Amino acid sequence: MDVFLGNGIHVRDGIKEIVLDPKRPTPAAIVSHAHLDHLIQGALMTPETMEIMKVRTGLSEGAVLGYGEEMDFNGFTVSFREAGHVFGSAMVRINDVLYTGDLNPEGGLTCGKAKGENCDILIIEATYGKPSFRFPPKQEIENDLLSWVQTQLEETAVAIGAYEFGKAQELIALMNRLDHDVVVTKKIADIADVYRASGIPLEYKRFDELTDQERKEPHVFIVTKRKLKRPVSGEMVEFKDGGGKACYVSGWCGIYNYTGSYDIDAQFPFSDHGDFDALMGFVEDCSPNVVYTCHGSSRELAGEIRDNLGIRAEPVKKL
Ligand SMILES: [Zn+2]
Repeated sequence: MDVFLGNGIHVRDGIKEIVLDPKRPTPAAIVSHAHLDHLIQGALMTPETMEIMKVRTGLSEGAVLGYGEEMDFNGFTVSFREAGHVFGSAMVRINDVLYTGDLNPEGGLTCGKAKGENCDILIIEATYGKPSFRFPPKQEIENDLLSWVQTQLEETAVAIGAYEFGKAQELIALMNRLDHDVVVTKKIADIADVYRASGIPLEYKRFDELTDQERKEPHVFIVTKRKLKRPVSGEMVEFKDGGGKACYVSGWCGIYNYTGSYDIDAQFPFSDHGDFDALMGFVEDCSPNVVYTCHGSSRELAGEIRDNLGIRAEPVKKL
């Protein structure tokens, strides 16, 4: 089985081929999840990813396969497993090959967890593939964030900036633990509606449907991260003028300081990817014969896998 980088990650066996997360539509494509850098129509995906794709892009062509089901796809046996990254995210099993897509072994409140499994070839993402990319346990970060938000709410409203699909809905679930309204922008609400339709109990109000009184009461406002960029505009000017406090959440908050470019009062390393230790632990659980790394710190992660786990590893090569 050959693995290489072209229009996505190609898995080839003789004349048979599958293309994982391609940049452009192509036959025999599989899309791992509905972040826009992965999303094309006409591919095989989970039913959850299909529903999110419809809302985010208006596109609806493609085939679906549920988690744990198996199908013959272009001459390979293909199945999906939970990747723990976002709602609908899948790891892809192709015969003896496991492709992780974006993964998080810790999982989330709105998706399952990625679990390692025996395979011959493992293709793993390396977003946080450097040994310096280590986060505190997710529950600790969640507790820190909740307690910061709770403290601010005693005085004023709080805005949290996050990516509009995945992170934002995860934050709705987390903030629903507090006894305050959770308010979201239209885009975030439209996506969250898909979660609700599939049985995930998220409670939120749309900002443009709030009464004047509700706008004045302390609430949690979840917005796309670009709304926190300096200088803030639109509803964020009103929010800041009214004394509202803002924070930004991303795994990168554990590494970079965003207070210069974002108008924020705090930041939290709340991630939907596994950190370095999680990636290494995942590889160990799979005990593969070969590992190919992709995205982010692929060279560094491959080196660490070779040196510390004694497993053959290298970044996926271009054809
Ligand atoms: Zn992603």
